[in-house]
Amino acid sequence: MQDNPQINKENINRFLCENCGANMVFDPRNGRLTCPYCESTKAIEQTGGTITEKDFHSFLRPDSERLQPMAQNAMQVSCETCGATVTFVPPETARNCDFCGGKFVAQPKSADPLVAPEGVLPFSVTTQSASGALKSWISSRWFAPNNLKVLAQPDKIGSVYIPYWTFDADSASDYTGERGEYYYVTEHYEDNGETKSRQVRHTNWFGASGAVSRHFDDLYIPATKSLLPDYVKHLSWEFGELVPYEPAYLAGHKAQTYQVTLEEGFELFKQDAAGIIYNDVRHDIGGDEQQVHSVNTDYSNVTFKHLLVPVYAGAYRYNNKVFQIVVNGRTGEVQGERPYSWLKIGCLTVVILIVLIIILLIASTGK
Ligand SMILES: [Zn+2]
Ligand SMILES: [Zn+2]
Repeated sequence: MQDNPQINKENINRFLCENCGANMVFDPRNGRLTCPYCESTKAIEQTGGTITEKDFHSFLRPDSERLQPMAQNAMQVSCETCGATVTFVPPETARNCDFCGGKFVAQPKSADPLVAPEGVLPFSVTTQSASGALKSWISSRWFAPNNLKVLAQPDKIGSVYIPYWTFDADSASDYTGERGEYYYVTEHYEDNGETKSRQVRHTNWFGASGAVSRHFDDLYIPATKSLLPDYVKHLSWEFGELVPYEPAYLAGHKAQTYQVTLEEGFELFKQDAAGIIYNDVRHDIGGDEQQVHSVNTDYSNVTFKHLLVPVYAGAYRYNNKVFQIVVNGRTGEVQGERPYSWLKIGCLTVVILIVLIIILLIASTGK
């Protein structure tokens, strides 16, 4: 029988250098697969076509055919400390958790099938640039502990794609409420024996009910619980620059498995959408003031996409607390919290006290 390389499972999603046979990695410098040994590069073949929406309801209780691993030979490992699961493609390995700094105790296993990513923002910032950005972030901060400085070395931060859901939907809402209209009444009052008048505002309330509808296009819901919510809020993404997902983008990097399920993601979408619909209702009620008593919303034509966005992440311990650092893999922007090194602050205080005592001594002996 003929050897068909296309069905040779060992070759699927292995990205071998045609020049020297080494494993290539996705390189943020050129957006291509690049050989770390001979610098040969190769364009990433787009096999899937365009980024398409998936029907929400057919994925709610998906049969196994609808799910697939992020790459055919992908491995995954879970962190027993923080619960994050990351996927990677051999020969890439994962020894430490990028989110909490914990060591992986469990052995990696074949990656579980999941709702395959539709789109990805590939890394465009290199590990070196990310650690450079981290270094200058740290050096602009006083009394940073040394554990934090160690993290600024390129091999201490991991490149990992984090998951997002995005939803499209049509909404139709019936509401009840009240419309408040202002009117003014002239009131008279005494001021130092003098009679004065003033305009006082009152509100007439009228019952109101009606319907509003809206089309939601791409509401983005983070599907990670491993990054501090505040970091996630401040990480900004140009989602317009998404490209169709290909396993090759994973070569040399890791991807986090979504921790917010599709169903939970849709609940979060509805929370965001409810705020927007509430404003629509108030606008529809009109008047000077509005009260909203009830809003009942039906969603239809719900579609979604699973997206991956790139970050460099690292964590370190200080006084038994975990501190996390995240660098945006597209912009190099650093998100981090930092503890104050009380040892360093204490040392500086002692030095200042000694200098003060010396100055006082000199001043008193000089008399
Ligand atoms: Zn090579
Ligand atoms: Zn962890």
